[in-house]
Amino acid sequence: MMALPRAAARFTLHFLLPLRCVSCTSPVGTPDSLCADCWQKISFIEKPWCQRLGTPFAYDVGEGSWSPQAIASPPIFDRLRSVAFYEGPARDLVIALKFFRQRELAKPMGRWMSRAGSELLKEDSLIVPVPLHWLRLLSRRFNQSADLARVIAKECGGQFEPELLKRRKKTRRQVGLSAKARQKNVRSAFSVDQTRSGQIQGRHVVLIDDVITTGSTIAACSKTLLSAGAASVDVLTFAYADTSNHAGASTSGKP
Ligand SMILES: [Zn+2]
Repeated sequence: MMALPRAAARFTLHFLLPLRCVSCTSPVGTPDSLCADCWQKISFIEKPWCQRLGTPFAYDVGEGSWSPQAIASPPIFDRLRSVAFYEGPARDLVIALKFFRQRELAKPMGRWMSRAGSELLKEDSLIVPVPLHWLRLLSRRFNQSADLARVIAKECGGQFEPELLKRRKKTRRQVGLSAKARQKNVRSAFSVDQTRSGQIQGRHVVLIDDVITTGSTIAACSKTLLSAGAASVDVLTFAYADTSNHAGASTSGKP
């Protein structure tokens, strides 16, 4: 009976260390969860939404409808889905994972992403994180998007591919750049690993990132994957920053 001591140890651990909300550290009843207060403060993105950009509609206009933004400026990828708007506790979680290195957050965040992106994720999908340049990876020591992608691949049974897409140019941070400058900044920044290009032919790719802000990085990655032979690219992010000048996913977000 090996299970009993382990269960007893876990019980003791829970007794000594009460479970905490993953965002604000208030006590909660279940592991890897949010307290009621944080749950209420998160702007979850819910149906009905735009089939392409996943942005919510104020009222139901029918399954498969496109938002005016998607019609005016169709994204290069097929569909985008995100868990929540980039504000409140959702923003705190993204920042805690990326800059405060709370890597354990990838587990609950990745699970929420799997749920939000369930219609995109298939067992034969390639789950590809937006890569960091190796120099940035060296200083940050981990790629938060790869941590999320690993959890998502495990949840959906898809193929985790952290090395397929490479960032060959160390791009400037996108913050503070104009839409045109952002596109120029990431143009030709990505490439598919030449030794593994055969693996991408005709495959469905789900591109993973922690947050979509300008859309230009996602657009550049999608373009690279499609040029390398991917059959289709969908995008799944934890948060969606409501900016008015998206390059790849032009939208004003909330209707
Ligand atoms: Zn909380």
